[in-house]
Amino acid sequence: MTDLDRDGAPSTDPLREPFTPGMRSNPPELTELTRSDEIVPQVLIPLEDVKTREFVQEWRNAAYNCYSSGHKFCREVCPVVIETRNESYSPTAFHANVVGMERGELTVEDVAADYVNCTQCGACELRCPNTLFTGDFYRFRTRTVDVVKAARALAVDSGVHQEGYRSWNARTAERSHEPVLGETPVGQDTVRDWADGLDIPIGGETILFVDCEAAFYRTSVPRAVAQVLQKAGYEFGLMGEQWCCGGPAAEMGYVDQARAFAEHNMASWRATGTKRILVLDPHDYIAFTEDYPKYFGADFDLEVVLIVELFAEMIRDGRLVPDVPVDRAITYHDPCRLNKRKGIWKEPREVLRAIPGLRFEDVDRVTQWSYCSGAGGGLAVEKPELTAAISARRLSHAGALDVDTLVSACPWSERPLTEAGDDVDIDVLDIHELLATSLGIDGGGSRGETGDRRFAQVRSGPPGRARRASGEPGTADGSEPGTADGDG
Ligand code: SF4
Repeated sequence: MTDLDRDGAPSTDPLREPFTPGMRSNPPELTELTRSDEIVPQVLIPLEDVKTREFVQEWRNAAYNCYSSGHKFCREVCPVVIETRNESYSPTAFHANVVGMERGELTVEDVAADYVNCTQCGACELRCPNTLFTGDFYRFRTRTVDVVKAARALAVDSGVHQEGYRSWNARTAERSHEPVLGETPVGQDTVRDWADGLDIPIGGETILFVDCEAAFYRTSVPRAVAQVLQKAGYEFGLMGEQWCCGGPAAEMGYVDQARAFAEHNMASWRATGTKRILVLDPHDYIAFTEDYPKYFGADFDLEVVLIVELFAEMIRDGRLVPDVPVDRAITYHDPCRLNKRKGIWKEPREVLRAIPGLRFEDVDRVTQWSYCSGAGGGLAVEKPELTAAISARRLSHAGALDVDTLVSACPWSERPLTEAGDDVDIDVLDIHELLATSLGIDGGGSRGETGDRRFAQVRSGPPGRARRASGEPGTADGSEPGTADGDG
């Protein structure tokens, strides 16, 4: 029966008859719009380039999911967009490029340089409604990080190189390690130097994998980790031959190189009967939990243990009892690869809350809203000034709190964060080192040129904002550095 309005005419109230696509009773002109079974019909423009065609076929659905939404919520959380306000560097553009390539309007040469502008932090994926809404039902996730990795791989495969990436990966291939120290030689003869005097065997069921930045530059981090493990009576060994995990090469698109490194490390683990890998660096953790299973499938049957989670568990079980007070006011920097990409943010806070003397001012920003350091995804290789700007922004957020210290759980983030910390008079410390201090361990090793410069400053009196306002020694206003405070 047709509803009538007050005048007796047929009702036109849309609420009475809301339009539902696909209803048989829909007027034909509306049915017309929903007739096709395909939401996005396959474009019939033939792509001559086989590699581009395969790339487009793999990523077109993810691309159209974004392209047809057009809301660009991801811009609010993308560290590169926040900093540059450049639409070409946005996750939306990364997806739109795929659509352009499918239609034959763009080639990888046209867009390869844009894909440099991504730290692969994963914030966009968490912010994206395509993940939030449909993810609940279909476990669908807008895979922007993977699209960026695939686009960079397509570029390399097509002979389109970014000069920084190209030379960085060529030098890494030469040395089998990331050339984190510029021209300083790195290799198998020096990769275990960080462990000098700690009496750790090589090989065994459980292996501590120490990433390149930590093994060669910030050696105080692995030394602290090893000594905490020893204090807890946890048995472990060192890698027989350790090459780079291959994660950075994979992130920059040098996939064959990444896979060769992975195969070498797998062979080393097999040779030493390893069943478990302990990892202190979030970048290694991503490589071992996401890249390696893709390379080796079911053959990758090793357990991957993140050290900061292991330490949280040991504190819970009473195997570790931090009892030396550490007099600092801190906030915590969530490494993107732990927090945004793996959902690990509770355990580091558990570790920090167990350390006596710490005043913990959390930023109350986790998941997609937490701040990026700008150090990941190879951004610092091609655009160091952008990494520095993102780090500076992150430190300015810390500076708004009453803290004197930013604690990170990622060795890679600590160099740019520490440099940015100079401007706001905030030290950047590593969570593993801080825990070692509170366990009475004097770890030794180096924090690298950058870290040691900050660490040598006097830290006394009121924390953070109050000290900065008072202009006390150790502030960023040109005051003199003091002696090391022995805090780690
Ligand atoms: S939030 Fe997701 S769908 Fe929306 S523009 Fe960003 S990547 Fe695309």
